[in-house]
Amino acid sequence: MGLPRPFLILRFGARPTGHDGLSLKAKPFCKALIATKITRSTTGHRKLIDWSIRIVLICESGLEEAASTQKREETDVIRTNLKGVLLSCTVLALCATGAQAEEAKTLCAQEAYAMGLRYQQQSAEVDAIQRQAYALARIRLDEALAAAKPDEKLAVITDLDETVIDNSALLVRDMQACHDFTTWDTWKHWERDGDPALIPGALEFFKYADEKGVAIYYISDRYDENKPQTLATLEKLGLPKVSNDTVLLLGPPKQERRAAVQKDYKVVLQLGDTLHDFSEDFVSKVPVDKQRELVAEQAEHFGRDWIVLPNSAYGTWRKSELKAWDAPMQVEK
Ligand SMILES: [Mg+2]
Repeated sequence: MGLPRPFLILRFGARPTGHDGLSLKAKPFCKALIATKITRSTTGHRKLIDWSIRIVLICESGLEEAASTQKREETDVIRTNLKGVLLSCTVLALCATGAQAEEAKTLCAQEAYAMGLRYQQQSAEVDAIQRQAYALARIRLDEALAAAKPDEKLAVITDLDETVIDNSALLVRDMQACHDFTTWDTWKHWERDGDPALIPGALEFFKYADEKGVAIYYISDRYDENKPQTLATLEKLGLPKVSNDTVLLLGPPKQERRAAVQKDYKVVLQLGDTLHDFSEDFVSKVPVDKQRELVAEQAEHFGRDWIVLPNSAYGTWRKSELKAWDAPMQVEK
């Protein structure tokens, strides 16, 4: 069956009259489109609705995706236009071949990230684990303070992302748009304009360390070019001892930045969500099996001077093979 032209991307937009609505934009070289997902969910404000449309375009270059998510006050205009979108997409979907429609349905491989993101962002257990990690950090800090010599200068070193601050909102947005956030090509925008939340327990712990006279160094692989914005983000969150000298971003390897702190301080605690936050032995090129061996070898550090925070959203384990029970499946009622 011949496929229709012109070819369209549907997107939200404000009409010249100022009314909310859905506008259509022509996209050349594409033969049809299929709406794979149209969702509507109420947000905190009762009248604000999150509209999300994901569309697969069947183009000469292959399948392409487009997504639109916008927060809009629900109006009759929006409702009417959404019905129009549904109708358009239904009609156009009929123009796609069965194989194309099937391929379009399975195109969003990024949906595989949903389970890990849901656990990281929504589970009360992760909230509890994070608080537990910081409670343990405080116990270890008290022990270090009690054992310190009078003239010793103590410091804690911490990572930022998924250790002190929660960036899951960015990752969820990208996943829902079928964009692979692990390419990190949307990250710089988030560093500049994003609004991360605090990890539970973090603020209280770092304020406590500061009150006890312990130096705090934030060592992160955030981009140095966005350092003013990262400093502003940390200050806005109320974290103590945030300054140009105590926030050490991407440039020299983390090990060098840690060594620079160790010149002047006795580092009594390190906090992080990835193993390279603790030691250069755990660099990202080390296979995951080897990383587990190293963890076993260095087990005495964990829960003592190394405190690990959970991160199920991303990590070097992301593409690891899963191990399955080899027994034939028995499904019973
Ligand atoms: Mg991190």
